[in-house]
Amino acid sequence: MYMKLLEERIRRDGVVEDGQVLKVDRFLNHQMDVGLFEEMGKEWARLFGAENVTKILTIEASGIGIACVTAEQFNCPVIFAKKSRTRNIAGEVYSTQVKSFTHGNVSTVIVSKQFLRPEDKVLLIDDFLANGAALEGLIDLVEQSGATLVGAGIAVEKAFQPGGERIRAKGVRVESLARVKRMEPGQIEFC
Ligand code: 5GP
Repeated sequence: MYMKLLEERIRRDGVVEDGQVLKVDRFLNHQMDVGLFEEMGKEWARLFGAENVTKILTIEASGIGIACVTAEQFNCPVIFAKKSRTRNIAGEVYSTQVKSFTHGNVSTVIVSKQFLRPEDKVLLIDDFLANGAALEGLIDLVEQSGATLVGAGIAVEKAFQPGGERIRAKGVRVESLARVKRMEPGQIEFC
């Protein structure tokens, strides 16, 4: 289900860098339009509201703002997977590896076992879906915990990159509010 308001905002304030990276620093990734986040949260609540979500899971750092505002609609806590510099020896965390789309490096991300439980119903939230590595990492953490994965709410899916197709092929419900079909500097086309 796409969201006209977000598409219009991307058209107005989004900046395409080199055809691969869409900068949305004016309203989403640096300066944040919380009123817009609220509308996004309401849309995901409409889509996933019947699923009895008990936890929203996102990844550090750019998903946190959207996830927090969305959590108000679901009336549940937000967990953000933390980028960890230390190895997990004691086994008190779930951990996975995520290759960063924007930086290219691989980082270990963790969630404490006390916050993801087998009885939880988890909704994933993130700002972008590109190659799918971030989302796959979050899915891996949910699977390790034995919790139920309800689906993923994505703000901007770059549909010309393979992540969306890969993750839907696993049977995961992905609801992206804007899907970019193609883009180049000065021009963005939505699906
Ligand atoms: P993926 O793991 O799906 O390849 O990329 C998703 C992550 O990379 C997101 O969490 C987001 O932070 C970042 N990302 C991917 N593509 C873009 C983009 O076009 N613009 C911005 N600002 N971030 C992106």
